[in-house]
Amino acid sequence: MENEIRMVLLDAGHGGMINGVYQTAGKRSPVWADGSQYFEGVGNRLIRDELAKMLKRAGVRYKYVNEGQKDISLRQRVNIANAYARKYGISKTLFISIHSDAFSKPSAHGWSCFTSIGQTKSDIYATDLYKETLELFPDERFRKGLGDGDPDKEAKFTVLTRTVCPAILSENFFMTNERECKEILMTKCGRRQIAKAHFNMIMNFQR
Ligand SMILES: [Zn+2]
Repeated sequence: MENEIRMVLLDAGHGGMINGVYQTAGKRSPVWADGSQYFEGVGNRLIRDELAKMLKRAGVRYKYVNEGQKDISLRQRVNIANAYARKYGISKTLFISIHSDAFSKPSAHGWSCFTSIGQTKSDIYATDLYKETLELFPDERFRKGLGDGDPDKEAKFTVLTRTVCPAILSENFFMTNERECKEILMTKCGRRQIAKAHFNMIMNFQR
């Protein structure tokens, strides 16, 4: 099958929590009125773990780019990913970096997915992920910037430009938007739906 995915590399953005200490500066929601707060790196890991469970059940091979809670550099992530990609076959490996978005204006919201600049194989997966996410979140907003969108934002993503295999980065809604944060990111059901969309995309490229 063309564009078949035989190995999925899962990158959970940022660091997690070690002894109650969040490992990454910023990258968190405001403290909401009820005292709750979302830490992106923690949430990214929960979504990644959910996706890994689904892949395991389906017999799809995957590797974690970042194990544990430490925040490793983007360069390290790329090196680890590239070693796996070379081992398992560059063209049949897909790198997925899982994130959520943030902005100074709390009204900013929606879902988006990034690839490196220009038309590459990554765009095929990103477009499919967009389609699958839209299916599971029909009432949500989908932001342009997919594929060949905003080049400034795309260019920043080392994990997309330096990886040797196809690579995508999903911005799974805004943690700075109270509704998206509390209703999607901070609920098990919401995170599972995000993972499911990624899973459905991957399954579309299985033999
Ligand atoms: Zn992030």
